[in-house]
Amino acid sequence: MYALQNKSRPWWVTFDFDHTLIKSPYWRLHFLPWLTRQAHHQNVDATILRRAIHDEGQRRWARGEWVASFDWSAIAQTLGLDPIPPADQPDATTVRNLVLPHVETVLWSLKRLDVRLAVVTNGFKAFQSPYLKALGWDYVFDAIVTPDIIGTAKPDPAMMKSLHPILLHIGDRLTHDVLCAQRAGAGSALVDSTMPETDRIDPLSPSHIVPDFLIHDFRVIPSIVSTLLNTRNMATVFFT
Ligand SMILES: [Mg+2]
Repeated sequence: MYALQNKSRPWWVTFDFDHTLIKSPYWRLHFLPWLTRQAHHQNVDATILRRAIHDEGQRRWARGEWVASFDWSAIAQTLGLDPIPPADQPDATTVRNLVLPHVETVLWSLKRLDVRLAVVTNGFKAFQSPYLKALGWDYVFDAIVTPDIIGTAKPDPAMMKSLHPILLHIGDRLTHDVLCAQRAGAGSALVDSTMPETDRIDPLSPSHIVPDFLIHDFRVIPSIVSTLLNTRNMATVFFT
């Protein structure tokens, strides 16, 4: 019983990407420079253009088109803007400067535990992969889950269906990360973030969402994971 849980199906520990592990590299290094060029080209204020893109994303979400609401290229096309070119392979140092404090140390600590690591992000694969590769994280994570591949987005628990069982999901959005984890029956941890909880809210969200853990310092994550592993593995021995 014990060996079955431990050896053949190690627990997953999953992470959101933007504002959990790193400061939105696609947005900062690719999307915003494109937006600035577009604003100049269209002779409009970049803030107005940014608002129009945001609002179109919100409209798509409100129509239940969760995946399409994160499709920046299609949104640009709908608004009559020039296509957003694919992100080139970025400079590794530039990307590494956006990684949040202690993240890499923690990831390598977790690699020494009996867990599998995944990224579960609402950013499309083409938007996130160049940055994961630049950091060498495509070797750190055992899976990268994105809406364009799965056909839905957080907080739909189907985003986590291919990762079973999940011990803990760590993210910066209550209404996406914590809610998705709870709906998937996984543990949830919320990191400090300045991101607002005002956009792309599931109308079926409960009015109160409480994470299992609040993370003020990323360095506590390996000890949380170790404790949960011990608890869950003991539960497996007792209840199977
Ligand atoms: Mg995030």
